[in-house]
Amino acid sequence: MFDITIIGAGVVGSMIARTLSKYKLNILVLEKENDVGNGASSANSAIIHSGYDPEPGSLKARLNVRGNYLFDKVAEELDVEFMRIGSITLANNQEEVEILESLVERAALNGVCVKVLNHDELKTIEPSITDKVIKGLLAPTCGIINPFELVVAAMENAIDNGVKLHLCEEVTSIVKQESGFIVNTNKNSYETKYVINCAGVYSDKINEMVNKKSFTIKPRRGEYFVLDHFDNNYVRHVLFNVPSSKGKGVLVSPTTHYNYLVGPSSEYIDDKEDVSTDKETLDNVKQKAYSLVDNLRLDKQIRIFSGIRAVSDTGDFVIEEVIPYFINVAGIQSPGLASSPAIAEMVEEMIKGKELKEDYNPYRKPLPRLNKKTIEEKIALCKTNPLYGNIICRCEKISEGEIVDAIRRNCGATTVKGVKKRVRPGFGKCQGGFCEASVMKILARELGCDIKQIVYGKENAYILKEGTKGE
Ligand SMILES: Cc1cc2nc3c(=O)[nH]c(=O)nc-3n(C[C@H](O)[C@H](O)[C@H](O)COP(=O)(O)OP(=O)(O)OC[C@H]3O[C@@H](n4cnc5c(N)ncnc54)[C@H](O)[C@@H]3O)c2cc1C
Repeated sequence: MFDITIIGAGVVGSMIARTLSKYKLNILVLEKENDVGNGASSANSAIIHSGYDPEPGSLKARLNVRGNYLFDKVAEELDVEFMRIGSITLANNQEEVEILESLVERAALNGVCVKVLNHDELKTIEPSITDKVIKGLLAPTCGIINPFELVVAAMENAIDNGVKLHLCEEVTSIVKQESGFIVNTNKNSYETKYVINCAGVYSDKINEMVNKKSFTIKPRRGEYFVLDHFDNNYVRHVLFNVPSSKGKGVLVSPTTHYNYLVGPSSEYIDDKEDVSTDKETLDNVKQKAYSLVDNLRLDKQIRIFSGIRAVSDTGDFVIEEVIPYFINVAGIQSPGLASSPAIAEMVEEMIKGKELKEDYNPYRKPLPRLNKKTIEEKIALCKTNPLYGNIICRCEKISEGEIVDAIRRNCGATTVKGVKKRVRPGFGKCQGGFCEASVMKILARELGCDIKQIVYGKENAYILKEGTKGE
């Protein structure tokens, strides 16, 4: 019997698992995909929002501000890339200036420090902005994070502290017992005292397996352009449009690896799995981004992608113990990434009768990160393991040693996309054109399987049908 079963290994389920792993609890995480963080948690803007924007008094406002505050410690303990670069929300006309001023009041109510700057002040700290910008709202506590790393790191740390992760197990039904629940998956049945529902866009369906329908999740897609890294100073802050009656607008932002993100769009869709993109929507994203920066370098575009927000019809996060021992953590749309450590704290408080472990370790074993090392450190590392001297991804300069490490860790990569999310081969200009075959060979060798069994991302997404070049 498990004390706690968490459904869904996105950032929310993984952060909750990690937080609860400091207690003497038998914890199981069930994830339907073949890797952690394959939902919204790996297809978002990667912004640790400051928290000036959510409706004052809402869960979103409270948990965003608290989550943002917690991120320095979380990122340090988990060895995740995080940079507090600040955000600027840019107003291009009088109507937008008025909205900006109302955001200042909101920021004060939410307890977030912001400052309004005029055009000249903005131009000195962010030369890329357009001449049309009249004023901007600077929020210095806003940060950017590597969202792929965050989920993997949180789960890795949770597993190190005793949590069990079962991938490729989709929860199909839940039966309420006199004490606790039976959770049925496509493979097994588990007895558990608590159920914590962190199933993203499917959290309404999971809730309805046991409870009356009390909220609905509507999927809302966001589409992006990704630009190659070409100039670390092209855009220095997260630049937002002013939210208006016409919508939330888009952002132009550096990533922790100095790629740049342009997007997202915002459209309700019917299919919870539909991560397609379309030209008309992306053209609209482009138009909005032109009002932020003068020289929108779409010539540097290397990829387009989309992610799906789990929007609750309640208008706020749904975090509640809806019946004894069944906790919904649902409708976690933006700012869910930024709020995730605070969401985990809130759920921690809901768990009764827990006792701290003596041997809990909040630190994850650091990554080798060859790119961040001096030449002397690189040479020393290669002496311990020559695989660190074999560069596999030339665009991102990732060595075989780092890829092997990403596969061998607990919660290790088993797919090409899993390796990409953890250590970045395939994120560069060639998008895997040169390194993908080598990554596949390394995966097959490390996992002890035939190369034809290696999939790109999803189960059954095979890359090879038969041997190549006589192999
Ligand atoms: C376009 C976009 C931009 C965003 N930008 C930001 C941002 O900049 N900053 C920010 O703070 N937030 C942002 N967000 C929001 C943030 O990404 C989400 O709030 C967060 O990722 C939600 O995490 P989650 O774990 O709840 O959901 P998910 O990551 O979707 O995880 C849910 C998991 O549950 C699993 N699951 C579902 N059903 C079952 C089942 N039956 N059995 C087992 N497993 C199941 C899924 O496979 C999935 O892995 C953005 C979101 C989107 C889509």
